[in-house]
Amino acid sequence: MLASVLETYESWDLRKVAIPSRSRLYQLEPVGIGTPLVESLTGYISRLAEAHCVTPKALISRELVSFIPKTYKTTNLFEMRSLTGALNGIGTMALDLVTVLESLTLRSDLRFLTLLTWTNIFPQRRLLRARRAWCPYCYEEWYSSKDKVIYEPLIWFFEAVTLCHWHNQSLYQQCPHCKRELPPLASYSRPGYCPYCLEWLGVTANYPSSDKTPPSKEEIIWQTWVIKTLGELLATTPRLSKPLKREIVAQAFCRYVEQFAEGNTAAFARMLEIPKNKVWMWQMGKVLPELNVILKICFTLQVSVLDFLTQETLKENSSQFPAMPQKQVRDSSTKKLEVKFDGDRTQQLLENVLQANEQPLPMTAVAKRLGYPKRVLYRHFPELCRAISAEYLKYMKESRIKRIEQCCEEVKQAVRQVHTEGIYPSEAAISRLLAKPGCFRDKKVRAALRAARREICLEP
Ligand SMILES: [Zn+2]
Ligand SMILES: [Zn+2]
Repeated sequence: MLASVLETYESWDLRKVAIPSRSRLYQLEPVGIGTPLVESLTGYISRLAEAHCVTPKALISRELVSFIPKTYKTTNLFEMRSLTGALNGIGTMALDLVTVLESLTLRSDLRFLTLLTWTNIFPQRRLLRARRAWCPYCYEEWYSSKDKVIYEPLIWFFEAVTLCHWHNQSLYQQCPHCKRELPPLASYSRPGYCPYCLEWLGVTANYPSSDKTPPSKEEIIWQTWVIKTLGELLATTPRLSKPLKREIVAQAFCRYVEQFAEGNTAAFARMLEIPKNKVWMWQMGKVLPELNVILKICFTLQVSVLDFLTQETLKENSSQFPAMPQKQVRDSSTKKLEVKFDGDRTQQLLENVLQANEQPLPMTAVAKRLGYPKRVLYRHFPELCRAISAEYLKYMKESRIKRIEQCCEEVKQAVRQVHTEGIYPSEAAISRLLAKPGCFRDKKVRAALRAARREICLEP
């Protein structure tokens, strides 16, 4: 039987299918990008090696080193050992490794596991610690929880961070089993384990107790603030469109000197108990303050490091960090202030200082007299404090002008006296007759000397 109807079958599509590019290494997702507890690059390398069932040593020597053949001073990537802390930091080593890892994993977010975004802002000195630090309670909690990854948060590497924010425990910096300090990345590193004795570092029933004394209340308050503000920086990093420029540090200092001390660098430096020339160098952008110094300044000014660097105007209270343990600390610290701080009486006393017909006092002296820290007075009565400070500065300026006028008059008389004695009125000869010999440092006094010589025709 002949087929009367021929059936049409769909034809094969022989066009090539577009295959997305394949990554050489697994595209392992980093933990916590955009949060205060973002993972560190060294911890990520340990996890990446584990995912490939090899040691970090094998991953680095067989894969990564060939892409970074250069040496860093005396070492290369494979031999750096004690320097591996730099891989989480702001320098070339971190940049080279991030570039290679991003190309091998086809990820574009691995730079957020380092501080590369802050390269222009923080100097390297005392920024990150060279050894690992960890909270054994966090490890144990992640281990017991089914859906949590054991990893190494970047915040544990800051030299300024010494506590775990969630457990109020000092971070461990020595393996409790073999008593060794651990490098951020070693040949046999695994998150949560010692790379030397291979023991688990989380808290277990027979965990050797720490020889550290428990943190004091003050340390907890300080550390809670440090972790909150550094956590905010780390969480914000991926949202910054590009790395911040060095100039913003100098601009921030200029802005705060203007807002807190009406542009008076010396008064601002006194308030923070920092040498004036240091503040001036920071304002001029000649040097960058270390992170520890910025932290102390921001703590005194009650502003987060991020706001200090990026906010155009002063914020009363800035906080964008998850609230958990802070709540407790803020309650205890502000309650203490509220109970003890007598607002009405202090305001009255400050007004009295301002209206008194006495010699104006600097705010440091006023604060001492009232028995409150100066920053507390500035926080509660910024306008009154600024007015008192301005009065004092005005008084100091007027006194200086008077003093110089007096010096000029003394110089004039001394020139006449010396001249009648037949002596040439040199600066040295006149200085001997003055109450304050150092006054020739002022150019107005030197001009007065020249004018007095002209009067007696000793100078053209
Ligand atoms: Zn912890
Ligand atoms: Zn060990």
